[in-house]
Amino acid sequence: MSRVAYVQGRYVPHQEATTHIDDRGYQFADGVYEVVAIHRGRLVDEQGHLDRLNRSLGELCIGWPMPPSALKVVMREVIRRNRIHNGIIYLQITRGIAPRNHAFPKTPESVTVMTARSTAPFDPDVKGVSVITIPEIRWTRRDIKTISLLPNVLGKQQAEEEGAYEAWMVEENGQITEGTSSNAWIVTVDGELVTRQASHAILNGITRLAVIRLATEEGIELVERPFSVDEARKAREAFVTSTTSFVKPVVRLDGDPVGDGEPGPLTRRLIEYYAAYLDDQDAA
Ligand code: PMP
Repeated sequence: MSRVAYVQGRYVPHQEATTHIDDRGYQFADGVYEVVAIHRGRLVDEQGHLDRLNRSLGELCIGWPMPPSALKVVMREVIRRNRIHNGIIYLQITRGIAPRNHAFPKTPESVTVMTARSTAPFDPDVKGVSVITIPEIRWTRRDIKTISLLPNVLGKQQAEEEGAYEAWMVEENGQITEGTSSNAWIVTVDGELVTRQASHAILNGITRLAVIRLATEEGIELVERPFSVDEARKAREAFVTSTTSFVKPVVRLDGDPVGDGEPGPLTRRLIEYYAAYLDDQDAA
């Protein structure tokens, strides 16, 4: 079946989906995006993603291309036209098309594109993955979900070249911010479940927020604070969260086993809760 993309008001064959070379996303990475999971035909945490999109747009003074209610309609249409049962929808809004000049265009008209594709359904029996650590080299507004992802791209490439799934970025003071496309979690040697608190230093992951809610509901104690590479090396368990990874156990860090080198019991519990949460999403 051929894929269909949405570009500025039109549904077009994916292969023919283009924007102008003067699109500021292309020239300046001047835009924002969201990736929303589709589980059994339903959008996962749609409102959370729209709220974060609203925040990203606001922080960069990019206008909404259409009311959120209309955007929701387009998202559903993209999912329907691509017949996605399990997959992801990618949605990008740039500041628009204008002659190249750093300052904002005088009458910006944001450009929206959306694509969707099928992915493997969530597998609660997920295997553990390896993570490497790399220096944090990004700007200091990582809370904004911009399409400016070059450091993330370089980090993920390094992970791939080293046979790892993800790279955790480490500040000069030794503290981990997050992964190149996921949030980082550990269960410390003392059994404390830790993930870094939301701030300008990390993207406040929608999956992260869901797992925080689930852990809290289940009475699992959780601490939101920075943690160091040293702590992570000694951790009993580690995992990552993201829209595309869901909750994924980390079993090796820089080549050394995390805990006993198997997905940990608390991680497995949280995966179970997350699986139930996915099945519980409202109808799209
Ligand atoms: N941090 C970064 C840098 C990311 O790119 C992502 C994925 N978009 C995440 C965290 C996880 O966010 P979410 O759970 O909303 O996918």
